[in-house]
Amino acid sequence: MSTKPTPFTGETLREVGEFGLIDRIAARFGPLVEGDWLGIGDDCAVIPWGTGGEGAGGELPEKPTPAEVLLATTDLLVEGSHFRLEWTTPEDLGYKALAVNLSDVAAMGGKPFGALMAIGIPEALPVAWVERFMDGVHALCREHGVALLGGDTTRSRNGLVVDFTVLGRAREADVRLRSHARPGDLVAMTGWPGESGAGLSWRLEHAEAATVVAQPADNPDLARMLLAHDRPRVFVREGAFLGRMTGVGAMLDLSDGLLSDAGHIAVRSGCDLWVDVEQVPVSRALGSVCERYGWDPLRLALSAGEDYGLLFTLRPELAQQVLDAYEATFGERPTLIGRVSPCADRTQPALRLRRGGEPWRVPWSGFDHFRR
Ligand code: ADP
Ligand code: MG
Repeated sequence: MSTKPTPFTGETLREVGEFGLIDRIAARFGPLVEGDWLGIGDDCAVIPWGTGGEGAGGELPEKPTPAEVLLATTDLLVEGSHFRLEWTTPEDLGYKALAVNLSDVAAMGGKPFGALMAIGIPEALPVAWVERFMDGVHALCREHGVALLGGDTTRSRNGLVVDFTVLGRAREADVRLRSHARPGDLVAMTGWPGESGAGLSWRLEHAEAATVVAQPADNPDLARMLLAHDRPRVFVREGAFLGRMTGVGAMLDLSDGLLSDAGHIAVRSGCDLWVDVEQVPVSRALGSVCERYGWDPLRLALSAGEDYGLLFTLRPELAQQVLDAYEATFGERPTLIGRVSPCADRTQPALRLRRGGEPWRVPWSGFDHFRR
């Protein structure tokens, strides 16, 4: 279906791409961002937020408390683009719509504390469906101590739309930006990339059979992929933990896939990010599902989105210490997948892949809403 409005000619969104469009918005509105505020370009906006406390009787505290920042982020889910009602339970959709925003706060090294929920709802949707959607939101709010502070509710004639704005806080020193990578850093990640993408691929290939009532109970590996897509694990406590650790450099969450997101750290930090594709964690379950359905697990792990693992860099001399502390706290260890190098081509810092020890030109790309 062509949706080009007639009086407008010239470049299409498909040509410019999601990130090209965001660059244009940033170029126009960026200059309005005040002093040491951080606007467009990272997982959250960062706004300096006072000194974080008072001493007795309203006096200044005896010792200066660490300066805090407010983190703000918003992520939108649109029926037909991000989900289909026949493929998700209302609880899962509520969970996911909030979870992806908590993930962006975690990716800054912060802790989420409040949320605003804006929803556009088709009038035919039963109230009981919305109640169950809210159950999913509520459970996640409770789990992470996030208060629902407000929102907006409207009728939608074009499917369900849900957007959360999430607020978080962090000590200024704990904020981890995409620009914090340095040559020599190691590159690490959490989670199992590609699983969410495999769940989605299965649904796309089995659209008829893929309704929520017909989950493939006989295949636990596939069930794991579907769960990864419907209720992605988000590393909320882990992100705040990594923010507090000396030795962690840049960080982001993998929402558009490694190929797309790792490049953001490279560009923002002005370095090359070298990733050894053999080190990228491919779960046994993903391998087995891919074998059964004839998909390439590496392709899914590199280019499929919506896994929400954290990708971060580590100062090499502190890396083992950070990974040990993480493992002692969470009972699992992030995977080392590469290293940061000085930018080989000064004008184009980039994610670069190595396979079998040799530079490898990947034949796929990460997710972009407009480029297909
Ligand atoms: P993430 O995947 O971490 O949510 P995105 O790739 O969606 O980040 O966005 C990249 C950056 O662009 C973020 O800083 C985000 O706030 C900003 N951004 C995206 N869309 C818009 C928009 N319509 N207006 C202003 N800023 C935007
Ligand atoms: Mg993000």
